[in-house]
Formats: sequence, C-alpha cells, structure tokens
Amino acid sequence: MTLLSDSIQYLKGVGEKRAGQLARLGLFTVGDLLRFYPRDYIDYSLPYPLASAPYELPCVVRATVWGKQAPVRVRGGRTLYRVNAGDDTAGLLITFFNSPYAADKLEPEKDYLFYGRVGGGLGRREMVSPVFIPADSGTPLTAVYHLTGGVTSAYLSKLVKTALSGLAGTPGALADPLPEALRARYRLPELADALQGIHFPASRAEADGARRRFAFEELFCLELGMKLLRSRNRRASGAPMSRCDPEDFYASLPFAPTGAQRRAVAELCRDFGGQAPMNRLLQGDVGSGKTLVAAAGMAMAAANGYQSVLMAPTEILAAQHASTLEQMLRPLGLRVALLTGSVKGKARRALLAAVAAGEAEVVVGTHAVLGKDVSFARLGFAVVDEQHRFGVRQRGLLAEKAEDPHLLVMSATPIPRTLSLLLFGELDVSILDELPPGRTPVRTLAVGTALRARMYGFLEKQIAAGRQVFIVCPLIEQGDDASPAAAEMQAVTAYREEVAAKLLPGRRIGLLHGRLKAAEKAEVMRQFAQGELDALCSTTVVEVGVDVPNASVMVIENAERYGLSALHQLRGRVGRGAAESFCILVSDHDSPQVKERLAFLCRTSDGFAVAQYDLEHRGPGDFFGRRQHGLPTLRVADAASDARMIETAAAEAEALLAADPALNAPGHAALRREVDSLFREAGGTAVN
Ligand code: ADP
Ligand code: MG
Repeated sequence: MTLLSDSIQYLKGVGEKRAGQLARLGLFTVGDLLRFYPRDYIDYSLPYPLASAPYELPCVVRATVWGKQAPVRVRGGRTLYRVNAGDDTAGLLITFFNSPYAADKLEPEKDYLFYGRVGGGLGRREMVSPVFIPADSGTPLTAVYHLTGGVTSAYLSKLVKTALSGLAGTPGALADPLPEALRARYRLPELADALQGIHFPASRAEADGARRRFAFEELFCLELGMKLLRSRNRRASGAPMSRCDPEDFYASLPFAPTGAQRRAVAELCRDFGGQAPMNRLLQGDVGSGKTLVAAAGMAMAAANGYQSVLMAPTEILAAQHASTLEQMLRPLGLRVALLTGSVKGKARRALLAAVAAGEAEVVVGTHAVLGKDVSFARLGFAVVDEQHRFGVRQRGLLAEKAEDPHLLVMSATPIPRTLSLLLFGELDVSILDELPPGRTPVRTLAVGTALRARMYGFLEKQIAAGRQVFIVCPLIEQGDDASPAAAEMQAVTAYREEVAAKLLPGRRIGLLHGRLKAAEKAEVMRQFAQGELDALCSTTVVEVGVDVPNASVMVIENAERYGLSALHQLRGRVGRGAAESFCILVSDHDSPQVKERLAFLCRTSDGFAVAQYDLEHRGPGDFFGRRQHGLPTLRVADAASDARMIETAAAEAEALLAADPALNAPGHAALRREVDSLFREAGGTAVN
C-alpha cells in the first residue's frame, strides 16, 4: 500500500542517505517524486553505427560488449574501469571512472545501447561514462531528470517505478484531480496513464500527451487558486465612498484627460462606490499618464474623507510622484507628504504626526510607508507603482495599515494578456491604451561604436538647441572582487569623466548611480529636471518613471545587455515633450539575434508588442524570474508556448467555480488538495 502523501523514505531503495539527497531536490513525499517530471528523454530508437556517430555530440550508439580490461589506478587516486566493445563498423573503448558498478553491469557478448559523447579516432572510438540500456529492453525513450548530488536518472526512474506500482495496488491512491468531463473535452490522459506516460513513455507522442495534461492541470489549478484568493478578497469594503465624481479634478488640470484615462477613472469610481474593496491593476505603456488616474482616485478619496498612500520602488520616483501629485492636487486644497527612509529626526516626527492626525491627505513614499511607526487617521486608497517590484507580502503589510483599503496597482511594464492573467489573476485590470495627444513616436536608431564621434556631434547640437540628453551605461566588467554595485559606479563614473573631458566639453554633465545617497540622487534629478544639467550619465536607475519633458535624446550604451522591455522603458524617458525625440542604441554586438532584436525595437513603439517579442524570444523568465510576486512558478507549462492553454484553463476554472464556488464538492476533493499544495509551495498563501 502506497499513498501520495507517504514519505519517500518508505519506498524500497531509499535509506537515510538517499532521503537526504532527495530532500535536496525538494522531494519529500511520493507525490513530490511523481511530480518531479523529466527534463528530457534519451531516444534509443535510432542508434548510430559507431563509424558514423557524430563527433563529440551526445548521441546513441549500439555496440556489443567484447570484454573488460583489468582496473587501472591512475594519478590522483582514481581507478579506471575499461570495457572493449564494438559493432561492424568500428571498435569502442568505454571508460568509467571510479565506478565498478557500471562496468559490472555490462555482460560480454551482449548488445547495449549507449548514450553519451563519442570521441576517439575512426578505427577505435571512445566514450567516457556513457549511460546505457540492454539493446533488447524495449524502452525506446528513457527519462532524464534535473539532478544534483549523487542521484542518477536511472535511480530516480527505478524509484518512480516502485512508487507507481505501489500506488496502482492501493485503491483510490491515484484519484485524478482533473474532472473527467474536462479530460474528455481536451483529450487529456487520465492521471495514472499520464504519470506512466511522462516518466516511461513508449513514444514521443505519449510523452507529449502526458506533458500537455500536466501543463493543463498546472494552469487550471493556478487559475482556480487565484480565483479563490480573489473571492476571499470579496469582503465588505473598509472605505465605502458615496461621492465619486472626478469632474472638479479634471477641471483643475492644465490639459484634458485622454479617453483611456477617463475610462480607467470611471472604473475606479465604480469600485470605490461598490461593496468590496477595489483590487485593480492599471496597466499602461510608459507615458500613458497613469499618475493622473491615481491622482483622480486620491482626489475622490479625499472628497469622501479618506487619506491615500502611494508607494514607489525608489526614492527618486517617490520624490517625483510627490511633486507631480502636489501640482495636480494642490489646486483642490490637498496636502501631499513625502515619506522616505531619508526623512529623519524632527522632520519625520512632524510628518508622522500630520499623517496620524489626518492632516496630510496624501502620503507618498518608498516601502518606508509600511514602517511600523506610520499610522494613518483614515486610510482609504492605496496605490502601488511598478507592481512587479512589490510582492504579495508587502501588499499584506499595506492591508494592516487600514481595514481593506481600495488598492490600485500600476504597472508600466506592458505584459501580454495571457501573462497578466497568470501574474495578476486576482486583480481586475484597467488598461491605458492611448497616449496623451501631441506625442511623436521616439525615433530609434541602432549604431555601432564606430559612430560614437558622430553621435556626440548630434548630442552637441541637441544641447545647443536647448534640449537635454540621457546617457545610460551599464556595468562594464571590472575586477572580480569588486561588488557589482561598486563596479557599476566605477564604470559610469569613468564614463562620465570621458564624456565631460572629451565628448561634450564645456557642458554640464550630471552623474547618477545606485551608490549615491538618496539626498544626492534627488539633488541630481532635481538639477536635471530643472535644466541645470545638459546631460545625465546614469545607470539604469532612471529606468522607471523619471519624467523630464525637455529631455530629447536617450543614449543606451551596450544595448545588447538589456531585454527589449527594459530598453523600451528607458526609451520612454524621452518623447514626453512636443519636440521630436531620439533613442540611440549603441552596440557592437554582431550576432544576428542581437541585431534582429534591436532592429525590432527600432521599428516598434508599441509596448505590448515589445513585451510579446521578449516573451517569445527570451521566454517568460523576465516576468517570472523575480519570484517576488509570490505566486507559484510554472513547472511544466510554458507561459509563451502554452498561451492558448492559459486562456482555456482560465475559462474552465471560472466555469467550475461557478458551479462549486469553494471547491467543496466531494468529487473535487483531489482537485482541492492539488490547488492547496500548489499555493502552499509558493510561500504559505493557503487558499481558504
Ligand atoms: P506614466 O506613469 O504612465 O508613464 P505619467 O503619469 O508620468 O505617465 O505621464 C507622462 C506625462 O504625460 C506627464 O508629463 C504628464 O503630465 C503627461 N500627461 C498625462 N496625461 C496627460 C493628458 N491627458 N494630456 C497631456 N499630457 C498628459
Ligand atoms: Mg509613472
């Protein structure tokens, strides 16, 4: 009798030492073991004749064992075990280091299929430590797992086999979490078959079918979990607002809001006046005017007697948001307080007192606003800028500052729809798909460093015409011992020296990098924003949000180092005024992929298209890599290639919850367990 929840130690062949090794792979239970899917398969079905095996590439050959040599001790205390083998076309010398077991298993006169790199000369070829199976074993495909520390794929396969046969003998042990109707509709194999099929496929097609099933199951459970989380959030709102009318706010602005901004604000109004606290994602390309939407929400919250808070990822951005919001909200008589880690002592105490007394209607800051010492008189509306740098945990901290405030999450990283479903599935979404009028697209060029002198001539002309320029330069590799931040500082500092001395002599050139103190950064940004600097050499700290309408050129050195989404973000720093703006991507990389990527950016200004390109060409790592979002990571499903499946899984999850909102039906018990365990792994967000 075996159960999925059994400790892996109960399996035959697992002692204490093995259990320790398996634990390091994250495998504790039989269920963990079965869900540890192969990363690939060795296909033994089409072996090469020895003479024509490709040189030094992993491949499969078929050979007869002729005999074994006596073990040889060599320098370093190692022992070589050598086996002579061959086929009609060539001989094969096989060497195993330190492992008598592998050589022992090979029987003379028998045929085997060997997998590994084939070296040596034409007459006698060589393989070192190949994996192998008897030629008559009838398993064309064998699984290869992502393994470390002493565990081999062969060992793991044997364990899986033991586990599967134990489970097969235990009634109900392999209850399928996927409802039968769903399996039938999408032709997905049943759990027991799929487990067999993914670990021991008889053909590629069977392995693919099994993979499809587990990908679907993973996405389906993810969607269910997020929808359950979301319905849990459907409690009564802690900040009901009866008066929601943005017209006074609009009237106080120097420009008219765009249609998209009006739509988003209307969605805010609806949420503010509703029963449940708002939980909304505002997505808009750089420059689409998200701040205005937040400001409108703050004005409405204040009209209902509530305070608002805005959290930004950096001090620079917080300072900038504070001044923008101040300009927009002061005409309405609202006070904006800037609270960051560098506000200290008396000033901080005074500020905190004003917030606690409700005298400051709007508080802007970094994560410092989540500090224990910060308390609000009546917080009703919280805005988080650049969501992807905040995690679920911070959101929880924010919720502690008030009973269920309305929450608006702003993201300037356009995220393809399918991914935003996955990442932000528990949020409603508003999209700003329209830029304020009068913007001309930024002209983007890719150039090699050979054109540097000409490029600086161009910058000189722009500066002479009264414009300003950004120059972003990345870490240039320095000594190993220097910390990355230090190296980055050296690189940009040296670069600035060169620009000041040779390239733009006599111009006022600022320097910005992550190692400056917050106050120093703010001062440099202030100087640049007020036109006291002609050029700003910086690291990517300017990446998000910084707004200087007079800046007309963005130069990005070593552009090949960034994803397109990051380049697009940087490009968004210019083109904010009326005059034509330029983005110059400097790179000497001549790989076709890099050239094609940069060329794509030169002809595309749509952030969503850029994000889609990144997703397809670089994979979802850029979106999922940070892991701070606190959602489960995908194990089988691939956010890029399974995009259609994501939508299907989402629709099916919706339909299932409509019928069984809390997954309490007896037939859904296995499914419920699967969803819970998926979210438990992600860091304790149990879905109750
Ligand atoms: P985002 O945060 O979405 O990148 P911002 O909120 O910083 O964009 O706005 C970008 C710029 O556009 C700001 O200078 C802002 O004042 C301006 N802006 C926003 N909305 C409008 C509008 N409706 N008409 C004209 N300019 C606008
Ligand atoms: Mg912004």
